[in-house]
Amino acid sequence: MEQYDYIVIGGGSGGIASANRAGMHGAKVLLIEGNQIGGTCVNVGCVPKKVMWQASSMLEMLERDVESYGIQAEVKDFDFTQLVERREKYIDFLHGAYNRGLDSNQVKRVYGYASFKTDHVVTVNEQDYTAPHILIATGGRPTEMQIPGGELAIDSNGFFALKKQPRKVIMLGAGYIAAELSGVLQGMGTQVHWAFRYGQPLRTFDKMLAENLMDIYKDNHMQLHPYYVAEKIEKDAEGDYTVYFENGETLTGDCVIFAGGRTPNTDKLGIEHTAVALDEKGFVKVDKFQNTTADGIYAIGDVIGKIDLTPVAIAAGRRLSERLFNGKKDEYLDYDNIPTVIFTHPTIATIGLSEEQAIRRYGTKEIKIYHSRFTPMYFALGEYRQKCDMKLVCLGEEEKIIGLHGIGVGVDEMLQGFAVAIKMGATKKDFDNTVAIHPTGSEEFVTMR
Ligand code: FAD
Ligand code: NDP
Repeated sequence: MEQYDYIVIGGGSGGIASANRAGMHGAKVLLIEGNQIGGTCVNVGCVPKKVMWQASSMLEMLERDVESYGIQAEVKDFDFTQLVERREKYIDFLHGAYNRGLDSNQVKRVYGYASFKTDHVVTVNEQDYTAPHILIATGGRPTEMQIPGGELAIDSNGFFALKKQPRKVIMLGAGYIAAELSGVLQGMGTQVHWAFRYGQPLRTFDKMLAENLMDIYKDNHMQLHPYYVAEKIEKDAEGDYTVYFENGETLTGDCVIFAGGRTPNTDKLGIEHTAVALDEKGFVKVDKFQNTTADGIYAIGDVIGKIDLTPVAIAAGRRLSERLFNGKKDEYLDYDNIPTVIFTHPTIATIGLSEEQAIRRYGTKEIKIYHSRFTPMYFALGEYRQKCDMKLVCLGEEEKIIGLHGIGVGVDEMLQGFAVAIKMGATKKDFDNTVAIHPTGSEEFVTMR
């Protein structure tokens, strides 16, 4: 049996980062990947999504915005198939970069699906491997739609497999992916019908964000369908799909996309041969040091079902390796105040508590809200005047900023710096003491009254 210091199961964002960091510290590391190196983010997540978002944003700019600056531009053609080919080439290039990085840290790779035989023996392609430290970084996959005909809907993986642009899409779901892909497709000229189960999407975020997003999407001719709960999907002889909803309505299109959350990849891992405990949804239970309930087995990233973001998986993986292989006994990831961007059109940027969460936690008296709504200069010259909304959620007398939220042009690139300040405990006064940069959108965050 081959012996290692560290076995990492899953070559996605978290697994690669942890394996590399362990390798840097001299550990003998084996990384096991069942599919493609890079995992969800590189192959069917952040990277292809951002490429599609960029293309869609460029089209939107050319077709909607540039005319107001006196620029007569005509999009002669948009070749979706070519875009997809170029995107996949770029992803191939990234595979090479990841492999070179792993080589430079002497991380050995094996391709195949791993499962536990015992707590410290993992088998892949009928070969056994052992190590005192084993990391589960197997991520998740799109949750399947559990209604009759649910299999007719594609998921985000299916979206990235499309070679041809759909004409009319019915989007089901209400989170990051539904919000992002609806915007991407609409910007590319697909007619999007976005149906969600409640009065608004993105219900776990500050209300202001979804309210403005819905207005903007409507202004851009997207059809929104609140309180639409899908109950059945059928395909007709022409190849079109009809979604039937509980309220008696139907929607028909040439593509149905379902994005209703993620299911952890723990079902085929042989977890039953270990002392690793899962929660009721199948996510691996961990403590703040990423320890599972089994000695020497750890878990990070989407498979723990905490915050499903690439930098979170990476940060947790690196900190774990620092703790295990570089003597930093107290190293762990603090999951509070993690910034995140939703790549909608325009983007949403958010960190900390929403107004609703803050009031629930601390009471209305303790919370002060600062809000700014304005038309970014980008839209100053035209008739289309998209609004930007920004909000600060402040706590107590010292007005510590415990939430910062924005939707509008460029907020995606504004957030990182503000996140540093908030992580350091910034107050409204600190923001007030910071001289604005003019003319920008971000100056609004430091000039709110
Ligand atoms: P993954 O990246 O999913 O990697 C897990 C790996 O484990 C996979 O490669 C899988 O093949 C492998 N595996 C599974 N089971 C086994 C097994 N038994 N044996 C061996 N290998 C196995 N996050 C952001 O921060 N920004 C974004 O813009 C963003 N956009 C996203 C867009 C989409 C459409 C999706 C779906 C996700 C997006 N995310 C984004 C989330 C991000 O992709 C994930 O949080 C991140 O990839 C999680 O990393 P991970 O290492 O936990 O798992
Ligand atoms: P999310 O968890 O973001 O949202 C899923 C939502 O879909 C649920 O909250 C629910 O909202 C709705 N839903 C669930 N089941 C159904 C159903 N049967 N029918 C209709 N709607 C349903 O999941 P996503 O799949 O959008 O994304 C997965 C994760 O990936 C995200 O949480 C995020 O962490 C990560 N991601 C990050 C991105 C980024 O950083 N930019 C981009 C994309 C993904 P409701 O209860 O309101 O109906």
